Amino acid sequence: MSYQFDDETGFETLAIRAGLDRTNEGEHSEAIFPTSSYVFKSAAEAAARFSGTESGNIYSRFTNPTVRTFENRLAALEGAEKCLATSSGMAAITATFLGILKAGDHIISSSSIFGVTNVLMEKFLKKFDIEVSYVDLVDNRSWENAIQSNTRILFLETPSNPLGDIADIRALADLAHANNALLVVDNALCTPALQQPIKFGADIVVHSATKFIDGQGRCMGGAVLGSEAVVGTDVFSFLRTAGPSMSPFNAWVFSKSLETLKLRMDAHTVNALKLAKWLELQPSVVKVYYCGLETHPQYELACKQQSGFGGIVSFEMKDQETAWKVIDSTQMLSITGNLGDTRTTITHPATTTHGRLTPELQVAAGIKQGLIRLSVGLEDLEDIKADLQRGFSSL
Ligand SMILES: *Cc1c(COP(=O)(O)O)cnc(C)c1O
Repeated sequence: MSYQFDDETGFETLAIRAGLDRTNEGEHSEAIFPTSSYVFKSAAEAAARFSGTESGNIYSRFTNPTVRTFENRLAALEGAEKCLATSSGMAAITATFLGILKAGDHIISSSSIFGVTNVLMEKFLKKFDIEVSYVDLVDNRSWENAIQSNTRILFLETPSNPLGDIADIRALADLAHANNALLVVDNALCTPALQQPIKFGADIVVHSATKFIDGQGRCMGGAVLGSEAVVGTDVFSFLRTAGPSMSPFNAWVFSKSLETLKLRMDAHTVNALKLAKWLELQPSVVKVYYCGLETHPQYELACKQQSGFGGIVSFEMKDQETAWKVIDSTQMLSITGNLGDTRTTITHPATTTHGRLTPELQVAAGIKQGLIRLSVGLEDLEDIKADLQRGFSSL
């Protein structure tokens, strides 16, 4: 008899034990099933599986035991009925839009979203006659004003990247529901260890597992979470037809990563908060952006929705030249566009992750030329500071 989880089971326990479906071998750690298809006991069983009268594995584009372990574990952590793993975060977002929307529909999106998500909307959703309006993440009135009779989805990331603006999930979920629409939240920056958007009324959560869920910069992956009625049908149907499934190997890595997720996210938060406060004291730093600072405009909301503030800290130098000098003076930090790693990464958003935006949109998104983004890792904080200090001293 396997252990039964209930509403009282703690997050850390679910992260370690939920989703494990032991085989007859009695393995303690999760087994890995690198198999593309499955065999049937008879022609009749094959027919029953294919016709759907009997449930069970057919082919790994549809289901795989290792992938299912990851899905069930992440579903338990987000408090979702259903989780579907995907080959990347972008596959999760694409499957959500294409599974749910049709030509003539309208979506409202925060203007501060991951750059490639923006390209997906502009270049592809619009091509299929799906209308997109962009609004200010933190201005509830602007969301309300953008509602149309054909609005089907409200889409956002909170905290936003790189500035850490916070959306009011409950208010926007209520707005969506009052208008027959769904609220979709990209929870990649917080992960369920720090924020569970479904608890605040979000209908769907999407993830790039590539970031903090893996947490060590190894595998690409993503997930869509929500109800059986929407995610389990429309999104599942698209995903298993279009084919961006997660590989069993990656699912196994992610399942193991979930076991330490809470520990890691809390440690990222501790390092990031201390570093943000230290950056505020540096004379050459113009401004620090971190939702864990009491001076942050949505600090109260962050405290309400999140159990920690996460690892992304941004700060502004006076111009691009100074910012590049600081970046180039570091010796340990990784100069890369990625985030969510045990290693601290340093990025100049204006010329990399947000470089495709027009100068006007960069200004609207608050991406100044002197802005530097850090994804604060788990190294000794003193070593991270010393590396940045090299940059500040060089000015
Ligand atoms: C990286 C990222 C994505 C895309 O995920 P991939 O795994 O790279 O496809 C989507 N949303 C956010 C917030 C991200 O940081």
